[in-house]
Amino acid sequence: MPLFFEAEFVFGGFIVLLIAVFRGPWVALLASFIATTPLVLAWGNFWPVLTFGIEAIFVGIICSRSKFNVIVVVIVYWLFIGMPISWYSISRYEYFVDSHRTSILIKQLTNGILYAHIASLFTNLPVIKKYFVRKDSEYSFSIKEQSSHVISSLLITIGIIFFFFNLNQNIKYSTKQFNFEHDSMHNELKHKLKLSIESKIKAMDEFKYNLAEVWDDDEKRHLSLLAFNQRHPEFRTMILTDKSADLINSSPPELVQNVLAQNESVNVADRAYFKEAIKTSSTFVSPGFVGRVFGSDLIAAISVGIPESHSSDENVGVLEGAFILTSVKHIQKLLNTLELNIQGILIDQTGKNLIASEFLQLEPLIPVSFSQAENSFYSNNLFHVVNNGELNSDDDYYLKSSKFNWGWELVTLLNEEMFAKVIERTLIIFAISIILLVLIAKLVALLISNSWSYSLQRLNRLIVIDDSESIEIAEFESDVHLPEEVNNLYQEIKNSRLKILQMNKELQNTVAERTEKLKTANEKLNVMARHDDLTNLENRRVFKETLSALWHQSYDAHATVSMMIIDIDHFKRVNDSYGHPAGDEVLIQLSRILEKFSNPAIQCLSRIGGEEFCLLAKGLQSEDVKNLAEEIKKLVEISDFTVASDQQIKITVSIGVATISPSKVSADKLYQLADNALYEAKNAGRNCVVSKL
Ligand code: GH3
Ligand code: MG
Ligand code: MG
Repeated sequence: MPLFFEAEFVFGGFIVLLIAVFRGPWVALLASFIATTPLVLAWGNFWPVLTFGIEAIFVGIICSRSKFNVIVVVIVYWLFIGMPISWYSISRYEYFVDSHRTSILIKQLTNGILYAHIASLFTNLPVIKKYFVRKDSEYSFSIKEQSSHVISSLLITIGIIFFFFNLNQNIKYSTKQFNFEHDSMHNELKHKLKLSIESKIKAMDEFKYNLAEVWDDDEKRHLSLLAFNQRHPEFRTMILTDKSADLINSSPPELVQNVLAQNESVNVADRAYFKEAIKTSSTFVSPGFVGRVFGSDLIAAISVGIPESHSSDENVGVLEGAFILTSVKHIQKLLNTLELNIQGILIDQTGKNLIASEFLQLEPLIPVSFSQAENSFYSNNLFHVVNNGELNSDDDYYLKSSKFNWGWELVTLLNEEMFAKVIERTLIIFAISIILLVLIAKLVALLISNSWSYSLQRLNRLIVIDDSESIEIAEFESDVHLPEEVNNLYQEIKNSRLKILQMNKELQNTVAERTEKLKTANEKLNVMARHDDLTNLENRRVFKETLSALWHQSYDAHATVSMMIIDIDHFKRVNDSYGHPAGDEVLIQLSRILEKFSNPAIQCLSRIGGEEFCLLAKGLQSEDVKNLAEEIKKLVEISDFTVASDQQIKITVSIGVATISPSKVSADKLYQLADNALYEAKNAGRNCVVSKL
């Protein structure tokens, strides 16, 4: 039975699915067009392009972007899209009769599952992946997915082989069973018909001798004919003729009276039943013919020659019994009550119908033949009934025929639809089994692969580093019994993580320590960069910066800026007399004295040269600054400076003071004025203050 394993369908389908999975819907659609074009040309129908094209797009869209299994997707496609479309399409296609439609759809579905399964096996083969997977696509599977795929593929392969084998066996068995039942029914019918006709033949064969004995006595001959007809009422009429074929007796008698009333004599010399019977001693069963003597019924006759004597071959007349074909009740009943959707036809020597099952609606005496049905779905050995040159119906039948030795033929017909229904049921069960097989295989595979990869999945989840979380590895649940390998991995990863964590902490501590040191060093550096290292007063750089800033602030605020330059008188002599270190000590002690004068108006107290100091003040009047200078000069004058641990010395300072408003001149001008004032103070004999405006 050419139902499954059609290599070209499976091959084309599987290649298209591979392309759909790896290259997406549109390339798959193109491949599907190429694969189905020959089918369209061969069948002259567009539906293969439609169903397989949509399948390619459907699978392409779903499977190229997700990890859905291709078999499940194909099953869903055929159940909900492919089969309804095919159902509609093939219902418009004469070639497939209705009774086969379900079978065709199931064939499509199972073919689909078959090629999807092969495609699914291939999608995971490394060699296929290597050539098919696009370089830019991420196509990685977890251990769980891979093992699930392997297990389900294995189960489905075994299941499919089993179910296909089983289907094959079932179909073979059903075919055999049907054949057997048809055979036995045919034989039983044949036996009954044979008995029925042969009993008549035998009875007539015996009766001819009785007739021979009373042949010359008209009365007795007539009575014994009537008696015989009473014992065999199946003969609707019986006649006796003499050897020249003239009617001499008939049964029932009223018929002959009617006939004789119309005709003077009745001669049947031209009838086959007379011609055949008169010349032999054997009984003759005639083909069907139209009656003439007693009306124009459609009849078949049994006739036998009446011998002159027991031992003689010469016949003196002919006995004939006729069945009316339209009312042979016992045979008609046999033909009508056949089971299993079997019909029967009794055909005569000339190929005309005698009696047939009523279902066939065949008229008697119409030529009947059987023509081979083309393009049958299940078998090449099916026939249509041809009635008078025309097809009786579209029904396809399996035929069995037997010839009886008197020339008639019995043909029994098993309607293929009956067989198709049984096969269809087998196929539906098969399809449901295959779908269940796929679903159960997938479920079992998922459970198994899940159970053995569970601890690995958990481990994977535990070690995945989330940006927001620490890298510390979480504990496995205490009730999970870890396989040895996973446990080793877990411990190893845990220890490594702990080590990293430890190192991380140490690193953080070191960094904190270093940062602290760097901060202190920076602070020192800052102080050093802004202070004079001998006196710890601000240095010349700070003086310059402060002057510039002060200048701008005061310019905006229309305030005054004052500068005071303090220079030690004859400092060279101090160095010369007590040594350079002693000079340094004087510089330090003078700085402490100057610091005593600090107040909010004083913005900067700096050492701007060897023994030269500078004071910047904001918003003071020239008089106030001059007075401050006088106070400084006086305090220095009266102070004792201790050098070389115990020696007390005196020093004096000269001070140049200048106060101006920034709107008038530049900062350099202020410096110049103060310096000039200092110069004048030196020239004025030192230890004095000169102020300039
Ligand atoms: P005048 O009254 O004209 O200012 O005389 P002076 O000696 O103070 O002035 P001069 O400019 O001739 O000499 C300044 C001296 O100051 C020269 C130098 O030896 C001394 N000096 C400069 N810087 C330092 C220092 O840091 N430490 C010591 N001990 N002496 C210094
Ligand atoms: Mg000086
Ligand atoms: Mg000096």
